[in-house]
Order: sequence, then structure tokens, then C-alpha cells
Amino acid sequence: MKKYVITNFGCQMNYADGERFSAIIEQIPNFSQTDKLEEADLLILNSCSVRQKAEDRILGLGRLMEKLKINNPELKIVLTGCMSRRNWAGKDSKSPLQQTQTQREEELKKVMPWVDYVLESKDFHKLPELLGYKIENRIDDYLSFKPNLSSTFQAYVPISVGCDHFCSYCIVPFARGIEICREASDIILEVKELVAKGYKDIVLVGQTVNRYINPELDIFGKGLRGNTRIEGLNKEMLTDLSKLPRDFLQLLQIIDAMEGDFWLSFMSSHPNYMSEQLIDFMAESKHIRPYLHFALQSGSDRILKRMNRRYSAEEFLKIGKYMKKKIKGLGLSTDIIVGFPGETQEDLEMTAKLMSKLEFDMAYISEYSPRKGTASALINDDVPQGLKKKWKRYLNDEILAKTALGNNQKMLGKVYKCLIEKNIKGDSNLARTGNYKEIMFKAKDKRIGEFIDLKVSSVTPWALKGKAIQ
Ligand code: SF4
Repeated sequence: MKKYVITNFGCQMNYADGERFSAIIEQIPNFSQTDKLEEADLLILNSCSVRQKAEDRILGLGRLMEKLKINNPELKIVLTGCMSRRNWAGKDSKSPLQQTQTQREEELKKVMPWVDYVLESKDFHKLPELLGYKIENRIDDYLSFKPNLSSTFQAYVPISVGCDHFCSYCIVPFARGIEICREASDIILEVKELVAKGYKDIVLVGQTVNRYINPELDIFGKGLRGNTRIEGLNKEMLTDLSKLPRDFLQLLQIIDAMEGDFWLSFMSSHPNYMSEQLIDFMAESKHIRPYLHFALQSGSDRILKRMNRRYSAEEFLKIGKYMKKKIKGLGLSTDIIVGFPGETQEDLEMTAKLMSKLEFDMAYISEYSPRKGTASALINDDVPQGLKKKWKRYLNDEILAKTALGNNQKMLGKVYKCLIEKNIKGDSNLARTGNYKEIMFKAKDKRIGEFIDLKVSSVTPWALKGKAIQ
């Protein structure tokens, strides 16, 4: 029996891909998964390029990989995910979109000579043949593989991959290619099976998930992303393929109409596609969690324009306020970049002001770092590192911590339906509320993956404590 290890380095999409890669490998007879690197005959590095730090983690693996290969000379190392599509050649080379995969692979192996094979995620189905195994009835689309789910209650379902927004700082359109949407019938079937198996936390994922358009119906390639509801949705329509959902809102409608006790959420949303119709539906749905992650990045129009985000701070604020008004107890999180080229104290204050107005529960604040190949990497990275750190601390400690605490205090003494995610130690458990807050509670009979009612007994900006209601 041969062993393989898959190591995921990135976001939910990366994690969801890893579960499909595992299913592809297990088509090969006598291959089983392990989490022990020293046992591996095949090691899959499912890379992420969004931040330099994520790439550095893989680039820094050289010594460990060489040691593993000395211990097991048969070990094969495969690099997949975002880094497999990056341009590793010098500054004057072609853009990654113009390079062939062979050129990219040659350049990558100069930087990471310990890698045996380089495979883009979309080509991962070719791995068995690359390793010398013949597969009968080969499936050519990796997203069509039934994932080897690693959780018994939580599942990430990719509905689209790639992005064609080209925000000036972002490597995703180069690393993952332009947006491709999965067929709605495949998505619906996958979710139906998950619900039937009792999965409680189903997350639809995509780089701009709420821009989804069903390719089965998008015959002209342009697509209507109008977020128009299916009127009078009934049970018969759920099985009638001629009534397939056309866009994201309709996809949510179909999934929300499924019977079962489960939560539905989606990430990451782009502000430009958060229509009022979509928000209205979230507010009245049976299964959609009162939670949304949508990325602000900056509260300054000048910086948003340089980032090529294609919305203004005012537009973002308007949609954010509408959401908070409509969806009771909404948990709202965002992404912020500090220290973008040309950003001033005045720009930062605009971000701080907008964050305060929308009272975010969480913000993933990152210090800007230029990603080679993107438009903003051509602009002088002129904000000193020390200042980026100071701005990050300011937004986190003086703005976010206050709004998060204020929101959490409003939850004190109230009872929430929560999903038990893990046992910490002894009788301490970690659960999550529908609006995505972590909540610790004590109980002897830990029932991971089940819902429980918890009364919030104490709060900090970042976590809650609660008591089980019998
Ligand atoms: S919307 Fe912008 S930030 Fe998000 S993945 Fe696409 S290019 Fe990157």
C-alpha cells in the first residue's frame, strides 16, 4: 500500500480543491491518505499565492523536502494550486497568461528543484497518468469528482473558480485564470447529497461567488447577473431541469428550498454583486446564515480607484447599511489592505471611518505587499513597512476591537442556535453561532457537528462564552 499526503496552504477554495485531489488520487489502486510526511510516497503541495507569506511557506520547504527524499528516494512531490500558474521567470519575461505550462514548469523548477511535477488545479485529473497509471473512464474536469470530505458536518462546495476582475494588487486572475462557473445541476446534486447525509454547514465558494452565472443557460457567454428571483418556486420546479437557476440568487433559492436542518453560507462576495434583491432573500431564507464576508479593502475612493475595485466608498456603505437593516443579527466581516502605494494618513482615516460606520465584527487586515505580475507591483511600494504595521494595529485595536465588542455585547444573555465545531480539551468545546462568532462552552457529552442552543454569558471583542440550554 502506498501513502499520500495533501497539504493545503490557502483559503476555503484551496481546501475544497484538496478534497477533490484526494478523490482523484484514490482512483489509483493501493493508495491511501496519511497525515505523516515521513510515510508519504506522494506529496501534494496545494499552494496559495494570494499573499507573499503563503508563497514563502512553500519556498522555504526546500531542506525538509530534500531530507524526505533522502529517506524515501521514491517520493514524488507535486506542486499544484496557485503557484503552479505563476510566472517564475525574470522581470522581462512574458506574463503568466502568455507562457505555456511547459515554460512555467521549467522556470518553477529552477526556483524549487525538489518538485517532480507541476500541475495546475484544473489539470489535476492528469496526475494518475503522469505517475504511470491508466484510469478507465477518466473524468476530465476535477470539479466533477466527488470530494473525499475531511469533515463529517462541514462542506465547501466550489461553484466558480478564477476571477476576471483584475484588481490591481491581486494575483488570483493570473494564478487561477478567468472565472469559470460550474454547472448548476452539478452544484445542486452535490448539495442535495450533502443535505441527505446530514451535513450541517454548507458553504458555497468562489473568488467572486455572488457573480455566479449558470453556464448551462448562459448560452451567449455574457450572462444575466440580474439576481432575479424564480417566482412561485415549488417542489416540482426543484426537479425540472428546464427551470435550472440562472444566476446566484436563483441558485440560493433552489438550495434554500431543500428540506433539512442545515446552514448555508457563501464566500467571497464582491460588493458590486450584492444586490438589494439578494439581501432581501438572505433576510427571509430558511437556511442562509446571518453572516457575510465582503471585502472593502479601502475606505478612500482615491485608493479604491488605484486598486481597480470599481465601487466607491459611498456605494459600499450604502449596501452595507441596507444589509444591516434587513438581516437581523448579521455578522459582517471584511478584508482591508493597509499601506497600498500612495496611501496617506488621510486615506487611512477614511477607511477607519467607514469601518466604524459599518461596525464590522471581523476584519482581515493585511499589510500591502507587491505581487509580481500584477499592475500595482509596477507602482513604487512607498509606504514604509513600520507605518503599515502601525496602521494595521490602529485599525485592529482602535476601530475593529471596539465595533466587535459593541456587537458582541448586544448578544449577552440571549440564546443562539450554534454548531459544535470541536472539542478543545476535557469538557471545553468550541461552537459557532449563525452569525459566525466563536463561542466556548462546557459540556461533557460533546456532540461535534450537531446544533445546540447556547446562552451567551460573557464576551470579548474576539470570542464569546456560553452555557448550554437543556
Ligand atoms: S475580485 Fe479582485 S481581489 Fe477578488 S479575486 Fe478577483 S481580482 Fe482578486
